[in-house]
Amino acid sequence: MTETELLERLASLGCELSRPPGSTVTGGVPPDWVVQPGSVEQLAAAVRLLAGSPVPWRVDALGRNWGYDDSRVRLPGLMVRLARLKRFSVDAELGLATVQPGVSFAEVAAALEPGGPWLLPAPGSGPHTSLLGNALERGLLAGLGERERHCRDFLVMDRVDGSLRRLGWAEGIDAGARKALPYPPGPHRQGELFQAGGYGPIVVELTHTLAVRPGRRAFLALLAGDEPTEQLLACWRVAVREELMANSFLQPAQRRRLQAIATAHEGLTLKFSVTARSDRLLRAKIAEIQDLARSHGQRLVVNKGDAPDDMAVIDARADRPEDVGVGATGVEWRTAGLPFVPAVVIAFWHEVVSDPELAELPWTLRPLDQRALVWTAPLVYRKEEGDSRRALERKADRLERIRRAFGLPEHRTGAVRSTG
Ligand SMILES: Cc1cc2nc3c(=O)[nH]c(=O)nc-3n(C[C@H](O)[C@H](O)[C@H](O)COP(=O)(O)OP(=O)(O)OC[C@H]3O[C@@H](n4cnc5c(N)ncnc54)[C@H](O)[C@@H]3O)c2cc1C
Repeated sequence: MTETELLERLASLGCELSRPPGSTVTGGVPPDWVVQPGSVEQLAAAVRLLAGSPVPWRVDALGRNWGYDDSRVRLPGLMVRLARLKRFSVDAELGLATVQPGVSFAEVAAALEPGGPWLLPAPGSGPHTSLLGNALERGLLAGLGERERHCRDFLVMDRVDGSLRRLGWAEGIDAGARKALPYPPGPHRQGELFQAGGYGPIVVELTHTLAVRPGRRAFLALLAGDEPTEQLLACWRVAVREELMANSFLQPAQRRRLQAIATAHEGLTLKFSVTARSDRLLRAKIAEIQDLARSHGQRLVVNKGDAPDDMAVIDARADRPEDVGVGATGVEWRTAGLPFVPAVVIAFWHEVVSDPELAELPWTLRPLDQRALVWTAPLVYRKEEGDSRRALERKADRLERIRRAFGLPEHRTGAVRSTG
């Protein structure tokens, strides 16, 4: 079958074909075509056709993972985009959202009862990105740890014959019980669904646990000096371990400036929120944090609650992430997973900022839980300027070298970079 015949047959199934939008990553190649099936049945038929052809292909959801992999493929071929699969439902009793790949954070959030018990905060990439895509690429649900931990039930399609299965679940298990339980009993293979870069099993439906809406919330910050210290990191670690803080992250002033956040403090800022059921409990928690901060020599202040709008880093709007693909500014994200050990974090940070190329890098450090952190650095560049692209490559190389020297894994790899 020639590529033209393949495309004709995909179109005759009802798939929409288009040329790919722009990309911001420098690795990989643009796909020749983006293929969008309109239903699970069309997807299954398309998968059978593709499996019988020599054309390489991968899947994505809404394709808004700018800077990690977005619309790139490793070899020339096709992108099967599942943006038209838009069904979802919410279980308001248990706080579960069951979504197809094309469903965004905004769509699920809009369906939740206003003021009700459940909440779906959007990631830094904005509300119009895919809940399922974010979960599979091991997204961070700020403050609650890895989104992977919020994944329950999966409906998965075989990449060869298009058949559907639920990994590890025996026939006849009640759907409600299946969605509510964290994983099937006995050995199961759900891990293989994560960070497969769209080259692994195709997830056509995911049940995701919603966050609990806090009754009261206060936004606070610790204002630190120019360098992360043992005291600051030890204080942060205790607060995370004792669940005093939610949604905490440490950033330098240059990162806030890139996000267009007015900043009077020139040192590092550890921002976080404190949540509680009542004002009384909230005050007690804040008093506890105040004591903890004082005993570690840290300064606690009230923060006006500016949300981290990561799209602002690239001068883009959170509700129009697709503009990044065609804009003049590109971004690449580099990550590292670190143990939450103050000495390791400080040594890693020191190595990065003492490199002249990386001294001004706008990084963010976030806890995954009380034992692990993730370090992310967006590398921003001008797509059409050779000097800017070369500077990007130099920075990426240096970061890579430091990460390897510390024996740290990348936290997220992206479809273009991950191996296999
Ligand atoms: C500026 C910016 C800030 C970000 N900040 C955060 C943050 O604060 N927290 C956070 O968690 N994430 C963050 N991210 C990453 C985030 O995970 C994604 O950008 C986005 O939420 C995923 O939605 P998407 O539409 O881009 O998904 P897609 O690009 O469509 O999918 C992402 C990947 O998931 C896989 N995938 C998607 N659908 C399927 C499927 N059906 N079957 C198998 N594999 C599939 C593919 O590998 C695909 O490449 C950020 C990204 C950017 C660009």
